[in-house]
Amino acid sequence: MSADLNSPFARDIAHHIHPQTNLRRHEAEGPLLIERGDGVYVVDADGKRLLEGMAGLWCASLGFSETRLVDAATRQMRRLPYMQTFAHRSFDPVVELSAELVGMAPAPMSKALFACSGSEANDTAMKLVWYYHHAIGRPEKRKIISRRRSYHGTTIASASLTGLANMHQDFNLPLAGVVHVTCPHHYREGLAGETEEDFAARLAAELEEVIEREGPETIGAFIAEPVMGTGGVVVPPRTYFERVQAVLRRHDILIIADEVICGFGRTGNMWGSQTYGIKPDIVTCAKGLSAAYFPISATLVSQAIYDAMLAESDKLGNFSHGFTYGGHPVGAAVARETLAIYRERDIVGHVRRVAPRLQDGLRRLSDHRLVGEVRGVGLMAAIELTMDKAARKPFPAERKVAGHLAGAIHRRGVLLRGLGDALMLSPPLIIEDAEIDVILSAVAESLDETQAWVA
Ligand code: PLP
Repeated sequence: MSADLNSPFARDIAHHIHPQTNLRRHEAEGPLLIERGDGVYVVDADGKRLLEGMAGLWCASLGFSETRLVDAATRQMRRLPYMQTFAHRSFDPVVELSAELVGMAPAPMSKALFACSGSEANDTAMKLVWYYHHAIGRPEKRKIISRRRSYHGTTIASASLTGLANMHQDFNLPLAGVVHVTCPHHYREGLAGETEEDFAARLAAELEEVIEREGPETIGAFIAEPVMGTGGVVVPPRTYFERVQAVLRRHDILIIADEVICGFGRTGNMWGSQTYGIKPDIVTCAKGLSAAYFPISATLVSQAIYDAMLAESDKLGNFSHGFTYGGHPVGAAVARETLAIYRERDIVGHVRRVAPRLQDGLRRLSDHRLVGEVRGVGLMAAIELTMDKAARKPFPAERKVAGHLAGAIHRRGVLLRGLGDALMLSPPLIIEDAEIDVILSAVAESLDETQAWVA
């Protein structure tokens, strides 16, 4: 703690509200000030190098020193630093980025619509579901089904879609019309002896019951992250998406794939939808789209949805939606360069090459007394801690054991995130074997330290 009231440390406490932070604790303990980036590392104000094992918020896929992205942004800033896309305006990077995204989408898509964040992309998706159903004469088909423990954003609509209670509490959320179904986490939600396939079948049956109960004529869409990220890297049980999609198609319910984390290589394919055989009608993406060097997100829509938007535009005279900075030329230029780097460096191939080192290395910790489950795919993973391995007993939430573990890992020079009983990992996609080993030894040593702390 710095006593100097003019230090950045003290000035942060004095003036800055931190999202997703215990504000009282922040007043007492202050910020972790980060000064600069260096590959997959960041350097804090004391000069300590920290391996960023979360890629920031699952997003800095190319690390923190990619000069090609800096150059792309600078070139675009010099040429055309801002223009809007309202009322027919367009410009080179956004035209080409739209074509690229439509061309590479995990299912046939017709058009791309841009915003600045994953939350806005999901809000847009929700509005387009409503718009579509108005256009085809079924305006009552407006409820959205989401899953408990999903994370879809922080705005009023996307936080409503989110299935985490703390995102709703005292914010008067969720909005009416969002229905949450069971989280597909086999370890926590599966019954004793239930196989992954049986669990998936049970969840598909539950989904169908919910649809019948609510009335299929009132349900517009289902939204899902291919792998739940913030909720604890929940990998779907085998056959889950196959079964769930069959139910949704039977009831004419649109599928939104929230690819904000999974998109652009994280799961070992370009899209999480490819990893799990999801055939979405709408895709939302952000984060890895620009490797986090500029805020940009996109909502991709199928031809059927675009046709409905055209019809509404004919009827109402205008497509009345959009953000001042949607399709920002600098963001679009950075995103184009990011996609070029992914292609040239075969980022998906790289993820596939290095992911087994992370996944196998973590699974070798499964025998540790504190570890209940290790799960993950590609370069996203979680360790679920437990008080009692046999009974799969969670720790009391107030002990924040995964947070304590993340603190011990931080002291060893690696930044990871603990939420509830889950320690989450999501390093930059450019990470190399030796850097994965740094993470693995920090986690292993910190598990022992945490074991001594809980005992
Ligand atoms: N969707 C998913 C799956 C996310 O993980 C996030 C953010 O973490 C969002 C949406 C919201 O994105 P943003 O924070 O850019 O609004």
